[in-house]
Amino acid sequence: MKVAALARETGRRLRDAERLNATLHWSQSLLDAEAARLDALPDGPLTGMSVALKDNIVTTDQPTTCASRLLDGYLSPFEATAATRLRAAGALIAGKTNLDEFAMGSSTEHSAFGRVLHPLDPELVPGGSSGGSAALVAAGVTAAALGSETGGSVRQPAAFCGVVGVKPGYGRVSRFGLVAFGSSLDCISVFGATVSDAERVLATISGHDPLDATTRAGGPLVAASARRDLRGIVIGLPHEYFPADLHPGVRAACDRTIAILRDLGAEVRDVSLPSTSHAVPAYYIVNPAEAAANLARFDGVRFGNRRVGPEGDLRALYRATRGEGFGAEVRRRILVGTFVLSAGYADRYYARAQAARRLIVDDFARVFGAGVDFLFTPTTPTPAFRAGEKMADPVAMYLADVFVCPASLAGIPALSLPIGRDGGLPLGGQLMAPDGGDADMLAVAQVIEGAVDATGEVR
Ligand code: GLN
Repeated sequence: MKVAALARETGRRLRDAERLNATLHWSQSLLDAEAARLDALPDGPLTGMSVALKDNIVTTDQPTTCASRLLDGYLSPFEATAATRLRAAGALIAGKTNLDEFAMGSSTEHSAFGRVLHPLDPELVPGGSSGGSAALVAAGVTAAALGSETGGSVRQPAAFCGVVGVKPGYGRVSRFGLVAFGSSLDCISVFGATVSDAERVLATISGHDPLDATTRAGGPLVAASARRDLRGIVIGLPHEYFPADLHPGVRAACDRTIAILRDLGAEVRDVSLPSTSHAVPAYYIVNPAEAAANLARFDGVRFGNRRVGPEGDLRALYRATRGEGFGAEVRRRILVGTFVLSAGYADRYYARAQAARRLIVDDFARVFGAGVDFLFTPTTPTPAFRAGEKMADPVAMYLADVFVCPASLAGIPALSLPIGRDGGLPLGGQLMAPDGGDADMLAVAQVIEGAVDATGEVR
């Protein structure tokens, strides 16, 4: 009976939140059916928690569209491991959330089904690409939601919406059933109203999966013992993440948080990650290269709604299916990715981007090897921006990821947590940890969460 009541309440909240355009699929009848199934089972660790899924994570009971016309109505024959594990732990799957098409973007404005509205101001974007998941958690519809990160798509919207967003280290959570975007970067990641909510979900979905050869050996994430303070911890502040033109509200929130880190007993140290400026350029070569390869399967033969071109041959079918099915940003990534991999250009672009990626990995290794336990930075250079502001300029949109994509390139754990507001808008602070430091990072985040006035104005 417990879950049945949660299902009704979740449905009511989803209905109230329809104006946000944060969901692509949900239904009361599915919620009720799932609740009946769960109520007949013994309680699990997530019984009583509702969790929404980004619509690039496949389930068999609802369509998975990746917010693309090409996959409109697509029903997967199998389910993502993360979704299966959530159900097995007793979580109520609330519905599928809106995103930038195929997770390409930072605002949800690239969704084929319209953008998500920021819960606090409909003129603003919630961030992206996992903006629907972020908005639902921020609006109090679900306690947690899954998103995916390829280059910051959970941390950035978490910061914009004022919720917690955790990207685990690469390979911690199975990618089986996550529609592939950049396979060397993709991580299913978690939004929570609190650090503890996100941690509980992560503990459920993480751990080795025989269906994904890139998952790490070993079981699920085990929470580190709770801390009361940050004594004995060294936190690095990479100066590349605090440029002179950083938004003054973001700077004020970070300064305030850094003072709190010191008060909590942490040793705070200035450090340098000199290759940071290469991260966005390297990301926007490696990512399209992998995306172009991964999206080749959406050809109207293997996957995707088939459209037949006027000449009626196979090439016309590909052209019509992909030309009409994909939106502008997806086409841009495929063109860029194909270009940077093509003979004569691969050495000039792809190989150099991979070399830059190595420098970024080495930067982190050097700092973490020199006694720094965690890094603290702003999550985003500004609070949530206005819809339309960056749509005409792809590079401006790409730069929204400047502080989040380095951890994606390096595959290290990172999270964003709310650290204050400026003019009413949430601001996020980012923690990054060395490989394997997921649980310790969450324990530190919990201490900061308890000490920071996350909804207070910072200036
Ligand atoms: N905004 C980045 C991009 O467009 C990140 C996307 C993501 O993490 N899915 O590629």
